[in-house]
Amino acid sequence: MASTRPKIKYSVRVVFIGIFCAFLLVTVGLLNVYPTTTARDVVFSAKQSAMLSRAGVMSASLAALEKLSGDGVQQVMGLVGAGEYDRAVVTDQTGVVLYDTDAHSGLPGTVSDSSLLLRALEGNAVFACRYDGDAFRSRAAAPVMSYGRVIGAVYVSETDSEQAALIGSIQARLRYISVAAGVVTLVLIVLFSEALTKRIRTLVDGMRIVREGDYAYRVPLRGHDEVRTLSEEFNDMTGRLQSTDELRRRFVSDASHELRTPLASIRLLSDSIVQSRNMDEGTMREFVTDIGSEAERLQRLAEKLLRLTKMDSQPTVEHQRVDMAEVAQRTIHLLDPLAKQRDVTIYTEFGPGCVIAASEDDVYQIIFNLAENAIKYNSFGGNVFLRLTRQGDEAVLTVEDTGIGIPAEDAPHIFDRFYRVDKARSRASGGSGLGLSIVHGAVMAHGGSISVAPRDTVGTCFTVRFPALAEEAAP
Ligand code: ADP
Repeated sequence: MASTRPKIKYSVRVVFIGIFCAFLLVTVGLLNVYPTTTARDVVFSAKQSAMLSRAGVMSASLAALEKLSGDGVQQVMGLVGAGEYDRAVVTDQTGVVLYDTDAHSGLPGTVSDSSLLLRALEGNAVFACRYDGDAFRSRAAAPVMSYGRVIGAVYVSETDSEQAALIGSIQARLRYISVAAGVVTLVLIVLFSEALTKRIRTLVDGMRIVREGDYAYRVPLRGHDEVRTLSEEFNDMTGRLQSTDELRRRFVSDASHELRTPLASIRLLSDSIVQSRNMDEGTMREFVTDIGSEAERLQRLAEKLLRLTKMDSQPTVEHQRVDMAEVAQRTIHLLDPLAKQRDVTIYTEFGPGCVIAASEDDVYQIIFNLAENAIKYNSFGGNVFLRLTRQGDEAVLTVEDTGIGIPAEDAPHIFDRFYRVDKARSRASGGSGLGLSIVHGAVMAHGGSISVAPRDTVGTCFTVRFPALAEEAAP
């Protein structure tokens, strides 16, 4: 059953677009405000110095008159170009207007109440400018000084719409450019974040499909970025899951197959006993013995299966000082009856210093399974050579036999679970195809290595290497 997609609180797309819009607003705001305020300030200061210097020139020219009178002022103001300004006003020291270019003001003869003029009459050169979007409206006033005394004041004002229009057009252009750039970038961000979220959605969908059990599913790979790396890692992980799952299935099916055979024999034998009314005691005993040996086989199989599953779920952690020679001696003793039964002679050669840090039970399993195989797959009257030698930092165990050997094409598989070279022979000798897998697992769990090679003349040679304990710890 397909599960629903989990609810996402903050989609990457929404976050991207949100951050971008905030960024866009701030940038457009700054772009529209900062350059125009800077340009305005530049115009202000240019106007200030120009108008104050012109007012200064006018005031110096008027100062030459020593006493300000209507005609004299008019003449001087005409000469200094007062007509260039929107308005020019001159007052005497009491603030009475002597000259005004604005014919309709009605000021001449009256006392001016212009704040700029009043401050100029106090001896200050003053300037004021206002920008109202359409024009710069500037005003300047300067005192007229004669022998260190204020004898009047001059005032000029001007309206400059040209510079204002220039700044207005820069502002408008900046607005258009920033809006156009913003729209293009917004479209790109929407497309990009949509593409990114789509790929993330594909990956999440893939994860869900795999979670629901379809280990064969692979996420499509696109682009060359982090999402691709993530998808590759995910596909890799799914591949591993798939092979683990396949191994598990194979293990379960092989195990049930192995269990079925002895169970079927037991069932058949017990049915025969139940159904035959007058079975002689000899046959009955034979059947019961067979049932016993099948049960024993089942028990061995169950033990091996248990050991393998234990190895998979909890690798050996407990390590103790193990003298391999001692364990080998004990194992040979246990295998003696089997060797006698097959007329196999076991030769041992135990060198000193083969002491390792391991689980004794695992070391026993390794030596037992290898030696048991060497006897089982030997020829009648054959030999087994079990050697332990110390080679540098390694303890080396070799188990050689003069038996049937392992064909080269089977050698790479013999450590696989349930793998048997000669199924009939293995089954006949009570084998399950699990012994060498247990050996392999135990060797790996102790940081060792195992290899198999044909013996020079006839038979097989297994070599196991373990990191050995230092010589002084292994007398
Ligand atoms: P089994 O329980 O069948 O012996 P193993 O895992 O111990 O299973 O061995 C796997 C297979 O490898 C055996 O079935 C046998 O065919 C082959 N084999 C193992 N040891 C030897 C050996 N010393 N000589 C020849 N064949 C061997």
